[in-house]
Amino acid sequence: MMDRILMDRENRYNTILELIEKYNLPVVCGKLNYPGIEKNTKHSELAFDVLLSLLNSEYRTFSIHSKMLKGFDGSSVIFVVDMEPKVAKEIAMSIENGHELGRLFDIDIYTKGGESLGREKLNLSSRKCLICNEDARICMRLNRHDIEEIINAANTLIESFGEKNGN
Ligand SMILES: [Zn+2]
Repeated sequence: MMDRILMDRENRYNTILELIEKYNLPVVCGKLNYPGIEKNTKHSELAFDVLLSLLNSEYRTFSIHSKMLKGFDGSSVIFVVDMEPKVAKEIAMSIENGHELGRLFDIDIYTKGGESLGREKLNLSSRKCLICNEDARICMRLNRHDIEEIINAANTLIESFGEKNGN
């Protein structure tokens, strides 16, 4: 399963590189940062639908090509955008930081050479852990939380958003 997830990530990255090469424009890739090995669940699908509609409303006008991918690594959407990468990144950050489900969203901007604009490069603080609010990367590295606990926290967040928004 893990191999297939990694293979999907590799394929997605190659697709992104091909699109950057073909259009000579930045690429926005939106997917979930959903915990666990099983990426396609009813919760993850609900959260991805929310992300997809946010991305459509923000990037569609700048988009000259878009593509949906679905696989073991979950769903993702790719937009080739005719806009400044930095502006695209600012929109992505405002969604990730401002939306109730933002911690579950992973919106990356890729430019020529396949480099993605990371939070560090823009001097922004890194993502917060779903459980303890510390730096999520450190929690992951130290294996601080049980995976089931993280999955439950993600699902609870998605459910409470769904209830408030009539899903
Ligand atoms: Zn934590």
